[in-house]
Amino acid sequence: TKKHKIAQYTVYSEELDQQSAYRLTIERELKSALAKQEMMLHYQPIIDLKTNRLSAMEALIRWNHPELGFVPPDSFIPISEETGQIVSLGRWVLYTACAQNKAWQDQGHPPIKICVNISTIQLQQLDFVQTVIEILEETGLDAKWLELEVTESILLVDTELLKCSLQQLKKLGVSMSIDDFGTGFTSLSYLRQFSFDRIKIDRSFVGDISNDLNGKAITATIILLAHTLNMTVVAEGIEDNTQLAFLQDQNCNEGQGYYFGRPLPAELHDLTTLYVK
Ligand code: C2E
Ligand code: CA
Ligand code: CA
Ligand code: CA
Repeated sequence: TKKHKIAQYTVYSEELDQQSAYRLTIERELKSALAKQEMMLHYQPIIDLKTNRLSAMEALIRWNHPELGFVPPDSFIPISEETGQIVSLGRWVLYTACAQNKAWQDQGHPPIKICVNISTIQLQQLDFVQTVIEILEETGLDAKWLELEVTESILLVDTELLKCSLQQLKKLGVSMSIDDFGTGFTSLSYLRQFSFDRIKIDRSFVGDISNDLNGKAITATIILLAHTLNMTVVAEGIEDNTQLAFLQDQNCNEGQGYYFGRPLPAELHDLTTLYVK
């Protein structure tokens, strides 16, 4: 009835108001988050599935706001991309992650790669490559220990600038990987053309390995095809032994997930015991 519809509409528009209010709050609070030191990085181990050794750490941003509490990256990263705040935020992430990796090396640990998530917006900045060069200089980290993770959406930006930047990064010795592979619409041969070194199989497929919802067939096919094209493969979201055993059986190169370790602050990782299980 009419009354009912009006009631529904009211609820709906209140919800919308709440959503845009939340958005505005995030946008406003993001402006001072770095200066107020509310941001920090957690690191999650990436394990070589042949040797069981630590081969890399992925840096993942964490925002702990005094009133809002813990704000997950999936909710503030997209907003920061729309407002452009991702550019300064991303620079901070890259600097902090490279500095941490250099610190681990200086402490005498065997060198590993640091994997940093880079937004498409960042890669589209004219001075992105220059920023990477500066940060490597400032932190003293060798380019070969840095890997940049981008999602497939980057390939929708088929511009000269992008191709040129990717080539320059490669020349520097920085590696590039495609994150969340399989969720977009890119073919692997297209990726190869852009000279990506690695792909990360999205955790939704890895999760389906144990449910057997085509997860086995999909992950096995991605691994085989990637290897044919000379790319290495990281499986994300490994949570149990069934998934791990299957991936090892398929010669997946590396793995990441709660099974090996959750993302943690640097000081809570013991690199000397990571990772021969
Ligand atoms: P992502 O790059 O795909 O990162 C992996 C996400 O999966 C992380 O969520 C991680 O905590 C979670 N994860 C790892 N292992 C497991 C597992 O075994 N099971 C399950 N269920 N989850 C697992 P997180 O930290 O919440 O980050 C979410 C997304 O936010 C990231 O997805 C990435 O797209 C974005 N993000 C995080 N940090 C940054 C950053 O510094 N810059 C940019 N541009 N994006 C970031
Ligand atoms: Ca990632
Ligand atoms: Ca991912
Ligand atoms: Ca993701």
